[in-house]
Amino acid sequence: MNRRGILSLALGGGLAAAAPGGVLGALVGSRLHGVVDVHAHVAIPAYLGLLAQGGVKAPGYAAQSSGPSPTSGGKGGDDPVAMAQRVALMDEAGVATQILSQTLGPYLGDSEAAIRAARIANDRHSALARDHPGRFLGLAALPLPHVDSALGELRRALDDLGLAGVALHASCLGTSIADPRFAPLFAEMNRRRTILFVHPSVNGLLSPLVLDWKLAAAAGPLLEDSVVALQMIAANIPSLYPDLKIVIPHLGGGLASMLDRLDNQLPLAIEKLAGRPSETARRFWYDSVSHGSAPALHAAVEAFGADRIVPGSDFPVLLAFEPYARTFDYVRKALRPAEAELVLHQNAAMLLGRAASRKS
Ligand SMILES: [Zn+2]
Repeated sequence: MNRRGILSLALGGGLAAAAPGGVLGALVGSRLHGVVDVHAHVAIPAYLGLLAQGGVKAPGYAAQSSGPSPTSGGKGGDDPVAMAQRVALMDEAGVATQILSQTLGPYLGDSEAAIRAARIANDRHSALARDHPGRFLGLAALPLPHVDSALGELRRALDDLGLAGVALHASCLGTSIADPRFAPLFAEMNRRRTILFVHPSVNGLLSPLVLDWKLAAAAGPLLEDSVVALQMIAANIPSLYPDLKIVIPHLGGGLASMLDRLDNQLPLAIEKLAGRPSETARRFWYDSVSHGSAPALHAAVEAFGADRIVPGSDFPVLLAFEPYARTFDYVRKALRPAEAELVLHQNAAMLLGRAASRKS
């Protein structure tokens, strides 16, 4: 079935009835006209505590101790007051649903600690979705680099907890998630046709050229987005795993402006590229988080297509700079109405609708 066909099925509510992934199908059927925010974080104190014990925390916010940090709780917390405030902000912004993920991955050398952390995050995501029907979906955190344990938690998260997909962070203890050692995980996600939301590890690419210049939080994620997307292109991941629905955040970092150069030069370095990089890049989805940058959005629409961009907010990161509603307003102002309609109201439903047909 083509894109239009699936969408009209969703509009008619048929997908909700037909889909084995009931929550996803119901979401697509009933809330198509609200924004689905695919990039939203919730701070879970027990999870963050375990990561901190393992030495994992977000760098880069030291200059302003009271400033915005996606991991610091407050408006991004998971307590009932914060969740009620969040729902009120979503209503004001016309956001039907947030898809929740963690800013930092449970990537710890100690496998037991990594598994414990991942389970805490996934149980909490599932509970928040259950407590607020239709308003929240959750993505699975997986205990890498322990691939067998990650496969077990993937099954638990999707089959038992009903999570909507997987979030992987760009690198794990210094290794790209595109590395062949994670191939069994990619094969299983592909078999199950899951959504894979990729998020920066917020580690400044572990480079002193970023970290020593205090760029890890402000610019580092965009560099990580670009690098992990490039690594996936270099590793032919979209063609090796064609049923995996990969979302790259922040409009792909700087990827949109690199594609012509990559088309010319990457084949000189890598003989067995599955396709032109500009074509492979159009097989990813990209979220719209860009701090209101119309030039970045225009570049992404031109490079990737308006049908590949889905709404994202990086909640609660931008709340310190702008109201939640403004995060999506810039899309309406920057794009033609038909493009904005795709980005804000149709593409995420497509993404979720296809995921609703995933295999167990
Ligand atoms: Zn984020």
